[in-house]
Amino acid sequence: MRPIIISVAITGSVPRKAHNPAVPITPSEQIESTHQAFEAGATLVHIHVRHDDETPASDPERFAQVQDGVRRHCPGMIIQFSTGGRGRAPAERGSALKLRPDMASLSTGSVNFPTIVYENQPPLVTELAGTMKQFGVKPEIEIFDLSHLHGARRLADAGLMDEQAHLQYVLGVQNAMPAERHLLEILVEEGLRLFPQATWTAAGIGRHQRPVAGWAIELGGHVRTGLEDNIRVSSERLAGSNAELVSIAAGQIRAAGHRVATPQEARALLRLSD
Ligand code: ZN
Repeated sequence: MRPIIISVAITGSVPRKAHNPAVPITPSEQIESTHQAFEAGATLVHIHVRHDDETPASDPERFAQVQDGVRRHCPGMIIQFSTGGRGRAPAERGSALKLRPDMASLSTGSVNFPTIVYENQPPLVTELAGTMKQFGVKPEIEIFDLSHLHGARRLADAGLMDEQAHLQYVLGVQNAMPAERHLLEILVEEGLRLFPQATWTAAGIGRHQRPVAGWAIELGGHVRTGLEDNIRVSSERLAGSNAELVSIAAGQIRAAGHRVATPQEARALLRLSD
């Protein structure tokens, strides 16, 4: 029995509220949704902020509002800001890191998404990693392709991140890596070869959410869920909330004979201070 961290990606950057009104958009909706997910067992929240249903935002003020609310209502929860690119100018992507969230996502390479190239040019990756180091923000390395693991290794070799990497494998994005167990096994093996002290999470997009979580639980990883990745609980029904998706992941963890990590355990596992 091991403690497993549930990350919840509450909002994302794709215009989606029209498809599922449970996706939280305003800071108060985001804080409320995060609190419910926290009560259901999530100990890490991955945050994008939005101007409205359609438009991703970058302003540090919005990030600050959500961070303050989550700190107040969800004691110990790990706060992770997205530095993702969709709909944001490159220069803005790191602008909220000065708020010193516990963590921030960091993509170490580019990849095709359903209709666009998700561009992460080498100078930007280096700059974001440097800013995270400057503000003491732990990166979560987003792995959309095997080469991204080696991108992370180069950052560590350059002294821009430490050896206790936290890696996230993203499977099931159309045009990127398919959600197949043997691929995850290859990624995990390579990740641990490059970073023997690494921790890792796997995220399955859409209908892949549940099977990918199951593989991660079996292979020694942690789990990510949430409306950013998947707005459904089944092919017939939209998810009613982030908390509902977290409850499903928590059920998978318990059914496998493990337990859901507490905030203190999650912080210890990721070597974050309390
Ligand atoms: Zn995201």
